[in-house]
Amino acid sequence: MSSFALESLAASLGIADPGQAMHDLIRELYPICRAVTGDGVRETLRILERELPLETREVPSGTRVLDWVVPQEWNVREAWLRAPNGQIVADLRRSSLHLMGYSVPIKTRLPLAELRPHLHSLPEHPDWIPYKSSPYRPDWGFCLSHRALEQLPEGEYEVSIDSSLANGSLTYGEAILPGWSDEEVLLASHVCHPSLCNDNLSGIALLWLLGRQLGRIEHRYTYRLLFAPVTIGAISWLAHNEKDLGRIRHGAVVTLVGDPGHITYKRSRRGDAPIDRAAAHVLAHRGPHELRDWTPSGYDERQFCSPGFDLPVGCFMRTPHGEFPEYHSSADDLDLVTPAALADSLAALLAILDVLEHDARYDNLAPRGEPQLGRRGVLGDAPFGGPLQRAVAWVLAYSDGRHGLLDIAERSGLPFRRIHEAASRLVAHDLLGLIDG
Ligand code: ZN
Repeated sequence: MSSFALESLAASLGIADPGQAMHDLIRELYPICRAVTGDGVRETLRILERELPLETREVPSGTRVLDWVVPQEWNVREAWLRAPNGQIVADLRRSSLHLMGYSVPIKTRLPLAELRPHLHSLPEHPDWIPYKSSPYRPDWGFCLSHRALEQLPEGEYEVSIDSSLANGSLTYGEAILPGWSDEEVLLASHVCHPSLCNDNLSGIALLWLLGRQLGRIEHRYTYRLLFAPVTIGAISWLAHNEKDLGRIRHGAVVTLVGDPGHITYKRSRRGDAPIDRAAAHVLAHRGPHELRDWTPSGYDERQFCSPGFDLPVGCFMRTPHGEFPEYHSSADDLDLVTPAALADSLAALLAILDVLEHDARYDNLAPRGEPQLGRRGVLGDAPFGGPLQRAVAWVLAYSDGRHGLLDIAERSGLPFRRIHEAASRLVAHDLLGLIDG
C-alpha cells in the first residue's frame, strides 16, 4: 500500500476517520470572521500551526506586489443593526456573514429607506444570508435573510460597526515539507472567507490533513502548502517568490472539496501538464468526475497560470464555484460539507500525487524478446494472465527509454498503481533500470 493512500494516512496519523477529522477542523474554524486581511486570517493560521510547520508572513499595507498594492488591514470588534422596536436584526456575533466584509466603521441612525441600499439578501433563497465583501471599495453593509429583510418595520434604525481600516499587513502562511528533491509541488487554498464551509474551509482542512501526512512519510518532491487570501494573497506570494518559481513542477489549487457532488478537475492553462494527465488518469479509474479546460475565472489558478508565470497548476474541486445553490451563502454550512465527501476528495488527491511521485522512465534490461518471468519468480503467487502479469507485460513492452509509467498506464488502460507495482517488481528482479524520475 502506497503511503499516498487514505488508509496509510489514517494509520500513520492514528486517525480512525480522516473525513471526520477534517470536518472537526472545519467546525473549529467556522465561527472565525476572516477577510482578505486582519486577525481572522491570523487566528486561522494559528490553529493550523498546531499540527503544521507553518511559516507566517506579513506583507505591509501599501506594498506594491506585481500590479497591485496591499490594502489596509481590516478588523472588526462588533457590528449590529437595531430596528426601531429595539430588536437586533443583524449581529456579527450571531454570524460573521451578517456584516459585509471590509465594512468601514460607522455609528449612525437612519430611516429604513436610507438603510436599504446597505442591506443585502437573496430573494431566491429567502432563508439564507448572503456573503458579501468589499475589500477594494469603501462601503458598509449588512447581510440578512430575505425573509427577515421583508419584515423590517419602517422607522429609524441604529447602525453600529466598530471596525478599523488602518495600515497593518496582509497575512499568509506556508508549510514547506521537504522531500528528497528540491523540485516542488505547490498546493494552495484560500483563507479569506468567513463562515463558509465548502468555500473554503474544506480546502484548508484537506491541505492541513495532507500536510500532516507529508510531514511523516518519505517523498520525492518538496511540498509547499500555501494558505493565502484569494487574489491579493496569491499575488503577494508570487511577488515574494518569483526567483524560486522555477522549482515548481506540479501544483493545484484545492477548493470546494466537501460538497456531495462529484470531483471536478480544471486543467492548468498549459492543458498538458503532468498533473493534468495524472488527474485525468486517476479520476477516470475512480468513477464519475468531470475534467475542464482552464478558464480565467475561479480561484488563484488565475494568478499562478497567468502568462508571465504559466505554472503547471490545476484546480482540484468537487462542484465548481457558483454551480451549487449554497455558494456564497449561509447554506454553505457544516451540513453541506460531509466527512464522506472530504475523505473521498483527499483519497483522490493522494492518488494523483502518488502518480506524480512515482512516474518515471525505465529501461527494459532484457529487451530482446520477452524475458522468461516464471523462472525468475517475478509474479510471485499472482496468476499468469491476471492483472499483475498484464501490467508486467505492458511495463516491459514500453520501457524503451521514451515512455514513463504514466504513459504506460494511459496506453494499457490499467490503473497507475498496478503499473507502478509491476515496475517495482521488475526492478527488484533486475529486469528494469531507472533512467530518471
Ligand atoms: Zn468565494
